[in-house]
Amino acid sequence: MNILILGSGGREHALAWAVMQNPKCDRLIVAPGNAGIAQIADCASLNAEDGGAVVTFAEENAIDFVIVGPEAPLAAGVADRLRDAGILVFGPSEAAARLEASKSFTKEICDAANAPTAGYGHFTDAEAAKAHVRANGAPIVVKADGLAAGKGVIVAMDEQTALDAIDDMFGGAFGGAGAEVVIEEFMEGEEASLFVLCDGEEILSIGTAQDHKRVGEGDTGLNTGGMGAYSPAPVLSAEVEAKAMEEIVKPTMRVMAERGMPYQGVLYAGLMIKDGQPRLVEYNVRFGDPECQVLMMRLGAQALDLMQAAAEGRLADARVNWADDHAITVVMAATGYPGSYEKGSEIKGLDALPEDSMNMVFHAGTKADGDKILANGGRVLNVTARGESLSEARDRAYAMVDQIDWPDGFVRRDIGWRAL
Ligand code: AMP
Repeated sequence: MNILILGSGGREHALAWAVMQNPKCDRLIVAPGNAGIAQIADCASLNAEDGGAVVTFAEENAIDFVIVGPEAPLAAGVADRLRDAGILVFGPSEAAARLEASKSFTKEICDAANAPTAGYGHFTDAEAAKAHVRANGAPIVVKADGLAAGKGVIVAMDEQTALDAIDDMFGGAFGGAGAEVVIEEFMEGEEASLFVLCDGEEILSIGTAQDHKRVGEGDTGLNTGGMGAYSPAPVLSAEVEAKAMEEIVKPTMRVMAERGMPYQGVLYAGLMIKDGQPRLVEYNVRFGDPECQVLMMRLGAQALDLMQAAAEGRLADARVNWADDHAITVVMAATGYPGSYEKGSEIKGLDALPEDSMNMVFHAGTKADGDKILANGGRVLNVTARGESLSEARDRAYAMVDQIDWPDGFVRRDIGWRAL
């Protein structure tokens, strides 16, 4: 197979790495890719959100299968354009991608599916939204309806914070994403993520994970895109996972199919678990980043077979071949992240690290300069390891971190603490 992956982060490096393990893969192109991906696959410059350009590129390069990494091309209908052109693609349609692109759409689908989630109100008017906050009190959660790069959610512990957030959103702080606002009941519990492949009818769990969103140790400080993750998530025991599949994911998929938007691709369910009961926080229509890195580390070559089965509507016969293993990824970020940071510092010591089925450094924001690797983003490297236990995987990941010579980078030293 000739395979095209769209995207450029650590998630796409992990997808590329897993796909390359599979002998079925003859040629892999990643567009646009990054310096780490360029070491294992061809990279091409291409606007991944331009469906016409992606179709033309796929046809010119005899691509048999396209895997879409990020949400933006999905929300822009790139998967539809590929399917219209008869090209096999892993990823939902623009209509189905609204499960991530619109919070009010997701809430309405959850209502129809009777899926446990936070109670909510949906507003297009600031005064009505504020009246809802005053009637319900804090803590309460204010969300911009549309895609806001993970920043459109304010968990307000007091009423004034919620009222200010409403003014900000209707005032245009999130552009068009904030023209509609969803206000949710605050849910207590422990958060974890469940990743499910869907082929329009059948579903198959491909693992659980937990991430660390805060920049500081002990889960303190500013929110980030994620400072690390591990899989599996102990809080998502087999019983809780089965409940989430039966009560949340399966009914959601049924309603999507009934409404003429069968969902195909990976569905990432963010869950809040309290007393063994999962409730939905949000759906994403793609793999998490950095959660994808730990899932790919655990799945290896079979990830390609599973994604292909989802795209071809063959999930009913697909099975995950689980090893009894654990994986962890530690994000190395540029000093200053998630605030302002410098780009361009050199990262040394990567060549000396092992790269095998137990240890990998996935690149998130890097750039090659001749033989040198330079930092080129906020989250720069995802140092990833697998082991028979989480503590074994963690020790190996931090041993690699310690061999990387990058004075301008930092890590959190406590990734996985909740599970350890
Ligand atoms: P979202 O983008 O919807 O996942 O929200 C971002 C984060 O806000 C989540 O990962 C939760 O930590 C938190 N959050 C969102 N909705 C709620 C809720 N209803 N109750 C408590 N926390 C929430």
